[in-house]
Amino acid sequence: MTELHPLPAVAAAARDWAAHAAALGAGVGAATRLVREEPLAAKTTLRVGGAARLYAEPASAADLRSLLRTAQARGLDVFALGRGSNLVVPDEGVDGLVIALAHEFWARFEPLPDGKLWVGAGLRLKNLCGLATQAGLAGFEFLEGIPGAVGGALRMNAGAMGSWMFDVVEAVELMTPEGEIRRVAKAELHVDYRHCEELQRAFALGALLRPASLAAAAAIGDQIAAYRRKRQESQPREASAGCIFKNPPGTSAGRLIDECGLKGERVGEAEVSRVHANFIINRGGATGAEVLALVRRVRARVREAKGVDLQPEVLLYGRRWEDVL
Ligand SMILES: Cc1cc2nc3c(=O)[nH]c(=O)nc-3n(C[C@H](O)[C@H](O)[C@H](O)COP(=O)(O)OP(=O)(O)OC[C@H]3O[C@@H](n4cnc5c(N)ncnc54)[C@H](O)[C@@H]3O)c2cc1C
Repeated sequence: MTELHPLPAVAAAARDWAAHAAALGAGVGAATRLVREEPLAAKTTLRVGGAARLYAEPASAADLRSLLRTAQARGLDVFALGRGSNLVVPDEGVDGLVIALAHEFWARFEPLPDGKLWVGAGLRLKNLCGLATQAGLAGFEFLEGIPGAVGGALRMNAGAMGSWMFDVVEAVELMTPEGEIRRVAKAELHVDYRHCEELQRAFALGALLRPASLAAAAAIGDQIAAYRRKRQESQPREASAGCIFKNPPGTSAGRLIDECGLKGERVGEAEVSRVHANFIINRGGATGAEVLALVRRVRARVREAKGVDLQPEVLLYGRRWEDVL
């Protein structure tokens, strides 16, 4: 009976999501956006994948707290979403509550009297670079061209041009899944290559940054322009999620993939970039399944030819890489 008529189960699940949405909505103000079945592909740079069963853009810390507490009480999985520039969203979407700090409330940029800088987790790195340049604050130029927001850059300890996000961080303000706000000094955080342990579960709300020095806007602008040129020469312009694999110790994932002759390798509309072998590009209309199949193929070929097990840098949203690789 169940096999022939799966619809009742689907209807029951839909009723559950509707009930979750009602409960979440009861605790937030009108400025907070809360919807069901929000498509996620367009909210990511790779542009693949399905919808979030529940999606919210809280307009205040109180609303974020309410969402987290209600989600916890109802046993819902919660996923933070930044600018989606390091994510592969599966085609079936995400069974849980996706929360994006996309409301302008989270995009603060505030130079402080002691020379430090407060930034909100929702501030785009591009805007951080631009505003710091205008304010004559040097030290953030390496972030130019990383298409994420501050929260995602903290969670990933994003890095480029020899620097890491946590090189410029003094403290992070976060909200625990229970809704408690804490300011944590850098020394207390467990930070590594593309990883910040504490932000696996907690939400970054903002960070206290330390500029390297004061400098003339023109000089900072020149450095940013130099980094931008370097990126334009070495990275594809098509939709991607940045580097797919972490660099193994002592070598670069891109070099290994290139040496295996995999540039241009395709599954459907997903392709290993001919410009940078560690990027998978979406040639237009790729699916999440095609991207995952290509990730599997590249890993298998590199393991076979080089004996190296590449580890994904990109995050698989709502699922575990172990389950699909
Ligand atoms: C063209 C291109 C170039 C890139 N170049 C670089 C590069 O040079 N260096 C580099 O390191 N990366 C690079 N990336 C990858 C990506 O931009 C970075 O990892 C970026 O920091 C991700 O930020 P995001 O806001 O897009 O996060 P998302 O992709 O939205 O999320 C990434 C992770 O962070 C979590 N997260 C997001 N916001 C929060 C929050 N507020 N609190 C807690 N967790 C949160 C998410 O749950 C997810 O686990 C590149 C990507 C592209 C597409």
